Amino acid sequence: MTDPTGDANCVFCKIFDRSIPAKEVARTEDVLVFNDLNPQAPSHLLVIPRRHAANLGDFVAAADPAEVGDLFAAASRAGRSVSRGGYRIVVNEGPDAGQTVYHLHLHVLAGRALEWPPG
Ligand code: 5GP
Ligand code: ZN
Repeated sequence: MTDPTGDANCVFCKIFDRSIPAKEVARTEDVLVFNDLNPQAPSHLLVIPRRHAANLGDFVAAADPAEVGDLFAAASRAGRSVSRGGYRIVVNEGPDAGQTVYHLHLHVLAGRALEWPPG
């Protein structure tokens, strides 16, 4: 899948390098966790890698396995830090899944009972 925005105009690259502000929750050299602007649950965090990839498939095709592990570890830590009753990690890839930002991100949702199956 192509990246319609390109790295130079990527909003999440800009959030990672702090040229666009966000409510940051955790940061390492390679992973950033921040609050979603339009939360769908009492806690709705986004977990992004520093390296730009349009979606999960492109990311894993080029990533070191440790890079993928670091991303999921950060999402798990973030989920546990904001929840008692559990959390959900979601990755949307492509239009059918409702992807709107073409820089890989893991949604971490928590703070209410989440329906299954999702819509
Ligand atoms: P997607 O639909 O691509 O899986 O999710 C994109 C998410 O990014 C949405 O939940 C949307 O609210 C969030 N988002 C889009 N632009 C911004 C922004 O500039 N700042 C923050 N914090 N979240 C954003
Ligand atoms: Zn990007």
